[in-house]
Amino acid sequence: MSNTVGSHIVNEVISRIEDNVDRLLNLLRALIQVDTCNPPGDYRRISEIVADEFLSLGLNVQPLQGQDGKPNIIGYLPGSQGNKTLLVSAHMDVVPVGKAEDWAVDPFGGEIIEGKIYGRGSADTKCGLACQVEALRAIRSAGVELTENLLLGATVDDETAGTMGMKYVIEKGLRSVGWPRPDRVLIGEPSDLAVVGAWKGRIWYEITLGGIAAHGGAPEHGVNAIDKMISLINEIKKMDLKSHPLTGHDSINIGTITGGTKINVVADECKATFDIRYGPPRKASEVDSFVRGVIKDLEKKDRHFRVRSVSVWDFRDPVWIDPEDDFVKCLLSCVREVTAREPTFTGSLSAGDLHHCFMNGIPGAWIGPGKMEVAHKPNEYVEISKLVAATKIYALAILKQCSKV
Ligand SMILES: [Zn+2]
Repeated sequence: MSNTVGSHIVNEVISRIEDNVDRLLNLLRALIQVDTCNPPGDYRRISEIVADEFLSLGLNVQPLQGQDGKPNIIGYLPGSQGNKTLLVSAHMDVVPVGKAEDWAVDPFGGEIIEGKIYGRGSADTKCGLACQVEALRAIRSAGVELTENLLLGATVDDETAGTMGMKYVIEKGLRSVGWPRPDRVLIGEPSDLAVVGAWKGRIWYEITLGGIAAHGGAPEHGVNAIDKMISLINEIKKMDLKSHPLTGHDSINIGTITGGTKINVVADECKATFDIRYGPPRKASEVDSFVRGVIKDLEKKDRHFRVRSVSVWDFRDPVWIDPEDDFVKCLLSCVREVTAREPTFTGSLSAGDLHHCFMNGIPGAWIGPGKMEVAHKPNEYVEISKLVAATKIYALAILKQCSKV
């Protein structure tokens, strides 16, 4: 800690976090030990654990649920002045484990080995949730009065980009219980303690082209849909890929391609999926008109180019918070004070829960103790030292945003 955080109360909160690392680790292990792989996304047990934790912090707690079995657990602590509202949140679901034999540890064990806790969700993002709870516990036990409103959130279905998670909370859930809409949001996604403030947009297409079957030895009598798909891929790949200082290079990935029935038959159908990602300020609509323009040109130039269907599975604009926003400056100062290092401000691939906040005019950022490079992989882990640092960062952020300390 640098001595810029001088006040007595801040020191008190920080030392309570340092004195209670065991409780933090136990909570994270308990969360990892509940299987919340999504799909299928069974939230029964974890929502009880989280609700009990939130209640133990003296919060008003509601399961904001747009559908049975999808309870977003939200805790609310009204501030004495209540002019602003901060939402601090993390999701409860995790991606599936994959092949069990790729794991050297039990994915639901929460084992501690050499300063790291292992398990599915340890980095993404049960760690964020545990640290957020313990940050607020330290603040509560130090007796700090919050002047501004605080919402603590544990959401469902982030990993499946579902509509019953943060989207429901922001658009309907909070209003349904008369709680305020947040002004700023802090999410515990893996960032290795960097402040993440910009995310790529993405469009996912599944495009099916038609052909005409014929003998493979006389392809001139048919139309090969695979050949047509190759032309389409080559044209789409001519998209002008840009680079953004925070989100990096735009990208196009052909995720799957299927077509044809037999080696000696001209393929009468070919289907491919395209995952196109782009940084700010490019809009999804701009990318979409490029792709549709390419298809129109091919149809014009080649009478055998037949599109059977274009389905759009995802259509997202990039989102970003102004680096000059006071919230960003506040978060950077929190990281700087806790780590005694110059913090990183960066971007990431996909905003997840935060996307729905931005779409509703509510900016936010990520800070998490996990590393993105171990998320969604076998042997996922989080470093204990990062857990402690993240808890302090969340506590400072809550104090700076919601109290006069
Ligand atoms: Zn996540």
